[in-house]
Amino acid sequence: MKENMISRRYFNRTLSASLGAVTFIPELAMNPSVWKEQQKKKLGIALVGLGSYSSGQLAPALQETGHCYLSGIVTGTPAKEKEWADKYNIPEKNIYNYENFDSIVDNPDIDIIYVVLPNSMHAEYTVRSAQAGKHVICEKPMAISSEECQEMINACNQANVKLSIGYRLHFEPHNQEIMRLGQEKVMGDITFIQCGAGYLMGDNWDQWRLKKELAGTGALGNMGVYAIQGALYTVGENPLYVYAQEFKTKPDKFKEVDETVTFQFEFPGGVVANLQTSHNARTNRLYAACEDGWFELEPFSPYGGISGNSSKGLITYPQVNQQALQMDDFALCILNNQKTRVPGEMGMRDVQIIEAILESIETGKKVMLNNLAF
Ligand code: NAD
Repeated sequence: MKENMISRRYFNRTLSASLGAVTFIPELAMNPSVWKEQQKKKLGIALVGLGSYSSGQLAPALQETGHCYLSGIVTGTPAKEKEWADKYNIPEKNIYNYENFDSIVDNPDIDIIYVVLPNSMHAEYTVRSAQAGKHVICEKPMAISSEECQEMINACNQANVKLSIGYRLHFEPHNQEIMRLGQEKVMGDITFIQCGAGYLMGDNWDQWRLKKELAGTGALGNMGVYAIQGALYTVGENPLYVYAQEFKTKPDKFKEVDETVTFQFEFPGGVVANLQTSHNARTNRLYAACEDGWFELEPFSPYGGISGNSSKGLITYPQVNQQALQMDDFALCILNNQKTRVPGEMGMRDVQIIEAILESIETGKKVMLNNLAF
């Protein structure tokens, strides 16, 4: 059974990965002239915020994409302008700062703006990007409140541009296989899920992730999003209730934001999930117990080295460039006018769940999850 399960998926993934995108579009594979036409239409992406994720992951990934390329940057640090221009061959006319950002509206080289700023700045730059007529990818967590998320969605709808969230694991083959195993009940009904995502934060007490004004939440919005996502895409349902607890072992350091949070979901189909996130503990595992077996990924959410096992055997796929696949998929969604699988509504749903977790911590009560956006 495992052999069939793994090999069929392997074939599909390998084929689509070799095309430079997860979405498999038969007419592109079969008709070289259609394919060539698509390649001519590579969309330009401008990264806003050239911090560690942009410089370490997104810019290198944009050297591997087939449907989009790094055409511009927005930075508040003049020294980075020349460094990035030289390294990635970016013309001066495509380099912006936070003051002249809105003039990007006149630049046809930039089709997509990728917001990679501290969390509290996501809403403003997504709205301004939409108002400049650009499609938007916004990093997770989508924003620091569900009201902000709604404003971002409205702005993109009004401007008739697409909005997606940087949920790269939806393009990662091990996680895609977990979605299939869980959602198609390949090992029977899931009974219980455990998922944890956290890391040991360094000793820089000045970092924005410790400041409520910039981060909104601590571990919850940063790594907790992965635990929420992991549980939801394994079950394929939204939870009905959440119950949460917070633990602070270093109250001085984590004065403004959460350090370690455990939370439990009850799903409508009866699945129970026990989840945790932390900025003070290393944890990275997604596990599902089913009627007829179990499956797990450990680790499940890093950029590489994802590894899987199950009661039927190992879950093994090639390691891929998740960010390249994610950005290529969004570019194809724009070129083919299709819906992204990771839309703003999904980002808003997760922020709504974070708000319910915070409410449960504050009240000590189980909170019902109503009117989720996705
Ligand atoms: P970072 O601190 O390395 O970079 C942040 C950038 O924002 C820097 O270039 C900084 O100069 C700029 N900035 C502008 N205004 C600022 C201000 N007022 N305070 C601080 N910085 C300011 O952060 P990062 O790790 O690159 O994270 C950026 C975003 O990307 C966050 O929302 C984070 O959650 C997200 N992220 C996502 C992933 C992923 O795997 N999807 C990974 C890392 C980060």
